[in-house]
Amino acid sequence: MALDDIRTRIRLAATAAGRNPDDITLIAISKVQPLERVEAVLEAGHRIFGENRVQEAGEKWPDFRERFDGVDLHLVGPLQSNKLNRALDLFDAIHSLDRDSLAKKLANAVQSRGSCPKLFVQVNVGREPQKAGIDPDGLEGFLKNWRDTLDLPISGLMTIPPADDEPEKWFGMLKQMAADQGLTELSMGMSGDFEAAIAHGATHVRIGSAIFGERTAAG
Ligand SMILES: *Cc1c(COP(=O)(O)O)cnc(C)c1O
Repeated sequence: MALDDIRTRIRLAATAAGRNPDDITLIAISKVQPLERVEAVLEAGHRIFGENRVQEAGEKWPDFRERFDGVDLHLVGPLQSNKLNRALDLFDAIHSLDRDSLAKKLANAVQSRGSCPKLFVQVNVGREPQKAGIDPDGLEGFLKNWRDTLDLPISGLMTIPPADDEPEKWFGMLKQMAADQGLTELSMGMSGDFEAAIAHGATHVRIGSAIFGERTAAG
């Protein structure tokens, strides 16, 4: 299946970059995909998945979790504060932290639950008005505020680079920003550019259509 090809390509890209393939986590992005395609990837033994909508995830993953052990589910799309508790019920990792107000609510919720998802701050590297994420110039202040007021670990940075440009320079930029902030994990790289992302240090690649096939609806 396509999953095997993707795993091979990840291994090759890691080796070519002088990296250990085990340091790269493959998140299979299952948004909008027919359930039987997702099920086939679960049957093949894969357990790490990503969704971009809280509600959509809530419609399919509780059932899959009952049938398959060890599912690790990542939210890669926007998080509204009114869906925060639902998101914390569903997800093991959140890649889309992008504002202070969310941070405070998250800290409160995590404290009352006693467990914290893995957290990435989303950076809008291309400063595109239509895209979510913190402006690159605001990252340092955001992290400082976060560290001064909250006691939750940030694992790394996430980005979706501008679509109409060579992704390499944006991946390099995110890597540098993470290094400057002492963060070690990088969520970057999708179906069309994950090898370039791995060459620039990606630790989490988010791959949808190259695993499941083209999406039939907008996602
Ligand atoms: C849909 C999506 C992906 C996967 O995109 P593909 O091009 O299908 O691999 C990755 N990251 C995010 C945030 C997405 O919304």
